[in-house]
Amino acid sequence: MSSLPERDGRVVWHPYTQHGCEGPPLPVVGAAGAWLELADGRRVFDGISSWWATLHGHGHPRLIAAMTTQARRLDHVLFAGATHEPAVALAEQLLAVAPPGLARVFYSDDGSTAVEVALKMVLHGWQQRGASDRRVFVALHGAYHGDTFGAMAVGDRDPFFTAYAPWLFEVARVSCDAAELRRTLAALGERAAGVVLEPLLQGAAGMRLVAPEFVREARRVCTELGIPLIADEVMTGFGRTGAMFACQRAGVTPDLLCLAKGLTGGVLPLAATLVTASVFDAFVHRERTRFFPHGHTFTANPIACAVARESLALCRENDVPQRFAAIGAMLHEALADLRSHPRVLDVRQLGGMVALELRSERMGYGSELALRLRAESLRRGVLLRPLGNVLYALPPACTTDAEAAMLAEVMRALVVDADA
Ligand SMILES: *Cc1c(COP(=O)(O)O)cnc(C)c1O
Repeated sequence: MSSLPERDGRVVWHPYTQHGCEGPPLPVVGAAGAWLELADGRRVFDGISSWWATLHGHGHPRLIAAMTTQARRLDHVLFAGATHEPAVALAEQLLAVAPPGLARVFYSDDGSTAVEVALKMVLHGWQQRGASDRRVFVALHGAYHGDTFGAMAVGDRDPFFTAYAPWLFEVARVSCDAAELRRTLAALGERAAGVVLEPLLQGAAGMRLVAPEFVREARRVCTELGIPLIADEVMTGFGRTGAMFACQRAGVTPDLLCLAKGLTGGVLPLAATLVTASVFDAFVHRERTRFFPHGHTFTANPIACAVARESLALCRENDVPQRFAAIGAMLHEALADLRSHPRVLDVRQLGGMVALELRSERMGYGSELALRLRAESLRRGVLLRPLGNVLYALPPACTTDAEAAMLAEVMRALVVDADA
């Protein structure tokens, strides 16, 4: 009998995985709370919330109950010309907790599609308004917005997407600098379509912080110029930054807000693009074909929507943003002194995320440290997946104080132990 990793190695192609040199995948047979259970019975702490998605912990009984109840009642139905209670109730509740001023919810399946939808709405919206010259987005250096073509185009080419560069549409790229943003938009003039950014925290860039003043300035200049601001909160949404949404912490309402990852508590794929009435109104017309030509087979899947509703209730009842802030503060307190360690260039924390930027021969995603630290942390019972030379953790909100202390200890050992 072959093991699961052996069978996997014969038939499966994994995401963001170099099959030519990475070791076999972890055989995961179960999960509960913040812990994954492996085939050999070992338990591993999920220090990165399974790619920034798991919110309340794995196997939460309330989410499983919501899932099974809804599955028995209505598993799926098309969402063009039909509707259902879970989708409507979720839209009502999302708009109630989102920054004020957002009025409509467009559902899709994942973070990339939530961004793709936002970009299409903006570009097509300009055409509907007779301003088809407005076609250039302004995005940030280091941005990551997903892996589909539009999302790749607004994302930084480096390090992942250089191979696709010839097919990616024109984007003006700026640093998190208000003056530079203003200059760039002024230079684009009537060609500027909108600004897209990850508010407060650029995840895939290596957990880089974005100043709230910059987000406010971006909002201000977009308002002045009458162009939309797209906030990609696929990763920062649902409490991760210590507020329900990073935009609220920055005190802004975007024109379009992209959500995914934690939307269902990290249990099922579901995404949403929330927009203002004005974005929606550009598509409302007596001419039928002026609609928004976008929709996925599983748009607003009822089971996913029902789970998302229950997850929102848990966010409220357990004050998830507050819990993330507390976990992050504990991690930071336990690790802050590493700032003076010769291997450490920076220690960053925002909400439930803490990151240690390490000195490395090769900086950035290609750093030789990543695979070594990943293997070392697993050996110590924690699943971490450094972004190149940036070792970070972002555990689920069910993480106890003791688990947070254990996590910090493992991270410290990874930095301090010369072999790690
Ligand atoms: C993960 C992520 C995406 C892409 O989401 P997927 O669900 O992986 O397609 C987009 N934007 C940000 C900020 C992300 O962190």
